[in-house]
Amino acid sequence: MKINTLIGAGLIFALAGTAMAQQPSETLIQGGLIVTSTGRMQGDLRIRNGVIAEIGPNLTAAAGARVIDAKGMLVLPGGIDPHVHLTPIRTATSMKGSDDYTSASLAALAGGKTTISNFINQEPNESVETTLTNAAAVVKKQAIADVVLHYVVSNPKKFTAADLETLYKRQFTLKIFLMRPGFDENAVAFTKLIGQAGQAGLLTMLHCEDASILANTHERLFSEGRGQLKGQNFADAGPVAAEEVATTRAMGISETTGAPVYIVHMSSERAMRAAEAARARGVPAYTEVRFIYLHLTKERFNQPDGPTYTGAPPLRDKSDQDYLWKAIANGSGDVVDTDHVGYTRDEKMDPENTITKSRNAANYLQDQLPLLYSEGVRKGRITLERMVALSSTNPAKLFGMYPKKGTIAVGSDADVVIWDPNLTKKIRDEDILSNGHFSIFNGWELTGWPITTIRRGEVVYQNGKIKAKAGSGEMASRHHWERP
Ligand SMILES: [Zn+2]
Repeated sequence: MKINTLIGAGLIFALAGTAMAQQPSETLIQGGLIVTSTGRMQGDLRIRNGVIAEIGPNLTAAAGARVIDAKGMLVLPGGIDPHVHLTPIRTATSMKGSDDYTSASLAALAGGKTTISNFINQEPNESVETTLTNAAAVVKKQAIADVVLHYVVSNPKKFTAADLETLYKRQFTLKIFLMRPGFDENAVAFTKLIGQAGQAGLLTMLHCEDASILANTHERLFSEGRGQLKGQNFADAGPVAAEEVATTRAMGISETTGAPVYIVHMSSERAMRAAEAARARGVPAYTEVRFIYLHLTKERFNQPDGPTYTGAPPLRDKSDQDYLWKAIANGSGDVVDTDHVGYTRDEKMDPENTITKSRNAANYLQDQLPLLYSEGVRKGRITLERMVALSSTNPAKLFGMYPKKGTIAVGSDADVVIWDPNLTKKIRDEDILSNGHFSIFNGWELTGWPITTIRRGEVVYQNGKIKAKAGSGEMASRHHWERP
């Protein structure tokens, strides 16, 4: 707690001290290795008025330009995380660790991500237009990173074709949970809605776990006295079969409606194989691998801190982990991101938590890209270009931001991360800027870290300090989704 307070104070000092510093209209990044999803080149990058103006060897700095020496560094497009859960407006019942757009931006920018996201819930007594307008107003006030928003429909009967057009026009995405009991109660209406969304130009995000299998499994575990977060209870509460059957169902919905779907947080070989088989038939289905499945397996639940590892679906077996690494390397995995929620360690370890009230996920925004680089690129599991595709280019395409975001090209937003490939550093709780203020990877030593993050031309993070203020982030401008 003391440490957190100190960090908070240091951060405020940094904000007050530097945020107002005038940003030069031109920045020249010299001598780095510029990497996109399709290749790499040694060269310089000229940024003017927030946009990439020129790429080439030996560029000359204009008078008054800020020059950044990037010799020996990687120059990457800013990370894009389309799966983040935030609590922008705190209430009396808010979790201590819940992040708003500001605190999530701090963690994201320090971790090499320049665009984050959030999910907005359908409000039963409010027009969709009003809900979207209110949500965008909060982003404008709080964000430092840029933001994409998704709209969660829980009652498809109160959601019209006109509402879908509003979502499309206002640049939101649709999200539906197959794991909620309400899905099966309204299965016909939800299936129709996904089809209509596709016709309206929207990509639909789907949480694929089968509600009836989950409910029955939970009832059995509770009756056996296995409701607590102990041992393998949580792993058994989210069986692979539930994920596989819901993923298969999603593929069927996509295949028969023609609507594109995006399966969030895929965790198992069997579910991934279901998606791969559908893709091989030409089904427009896209896949997101939540990063923790690449780094952790279900044995973690046996540790004393086992409850900190909960998330839906639960951690899986080593064979699943190996399969997911292959999937993200060979292209059947499209996106790697976090499913971030900013809980504190105390909230995750609360003895009141159970297999059904487990406070799923944790704060991950700051660790995910360094883990993907250190464990993926450095260990030869994926190429640097593939890392850029998974964490920037593909999400930019799927969520309608490419090529403004997701690449380094003339005319693109200057969302750029300068990455030191040889910096070795431990993940430490006390460095975590999310309100969660801890990491499930505390103590892991990684090589390769972002040292400078630039968002639309503004240096927003440098050497451990955030240099921009809340309200400088924007709703990312979006258009029709495209396939990666
Ligand atoms: Zn989620």
